[in-house]
Amino acid sequence: MTDFIGKCGGYAVIDGGLATELERHGANLNDPLWSAKCLVTSPQLIRRVHLDYLEAGANIIISSSYQATLQGFEAKGLSRVEGEALLRKSVEIACEAREIYYSRDAKVSSAVIENRENLKQHPVFVGASVGSYGAYLADGSEYSGIYGDAVTLETLKDFHRRRVQVLAESGADLIAFETIPNKLEAKAYAELLQEEDIKIPAWFSFNSKDGTNVVSGDSISECASIADSCKQVVAVGINCTPPRFIHGLIQAIREVTAKPILIYPNSGETYDADRKEWVQSTGVVDEDFVSYVGKWYEAGASLIGGCCRTTPNTIRAISKALSSRSSSVTTLEF
Ligand SMILES: [Zn+2]
Repeated sequence: MTDFIGKCGGYAVIDGGLATELERHGANLNDPLWSAKCLVTSPQLIRRVHLDYLEAGANIIISSSYQATLQGFEAKGLSRVEGEALLRKSVEIACEAREIYYSRDAKVSSAVIENRENLKQHPVFVGASVGSYGAYLADGSEYSGIYGDAVTLETLKDFHRRRVQVLAESGADLIAFETIPNKLEAKAYAELLQEEDIKIPAWFSFNSKDGTNVVSGDSISECASIADSCKQVVAVGINCTPPRFIHGLIQAIREVTAKPILIYPNSGETYDADRKEWVQSTGVVDEDFVSYVGKWYEAGASLIGGCCRTTPNTIRAISKALSSRSSSVTTLEF
């Protein structure tokens, strides 16, 4: 990951919200499978959203498998084989978007050398998304982290095992474990990566609603330490969390790991799990998302993007903020 970040110019831009964009293009996601539903009904729409993010400056696009689980597909009447094919498809769609992006870029550029230079400056990784067990339950428990006593480490490992195996062989560059709500699930992922000898790297991304702990109340330091001690984990951070909490969380993570830190906050609105919709926050409003970016970069985050309710415009602005920042740093250094 450090190599990749270096090739990108010292920071890498992660994409923004997928579901929000799919809905904006007309997809109806009112379904337990959420954005994974589009894998069946409208893959071309997913590809288009990935492409929009690449054109907005994203270096890492995350596949539409967040809520795609073999168990969820089975509940919809799909066979195990069909479910596994859909998981692979989520990564294939993202890889196709990358191909289209590169071939467009090649057409635009008349000089081959110049084009190579562009590609070097804009390397792209495809991350295979793995949502938490709570995301599969689709009852909002990925935002509470409370699974109950019946859910043990083994339950979580068994739940995630096959999906992680399939995604690891799908052609993705890394596995993005997203919105991890508690320590138990982080531990389950770390053990799975080791037990299954997963060959591609992974990142661990937690969510928080108080700026100190992950949503279950487990401390962010303990969670980040689990990520730090797992050799396959190449970056650790925070997603789907209001921008106002990010700075303190970066500092807490930095204290326990030297691995690259990733952050992709949501827009600052709150998700109402019962109504399955986003509501405007009361109190502190995170209006100017992008004005935080420089501060987060200085605090140690080198992978920055957006989660729910962010759009290609958000990502374009993040990309611009980071590039003007790094070019001003370059000027100072030379
Ligand atoms: Zn989110």
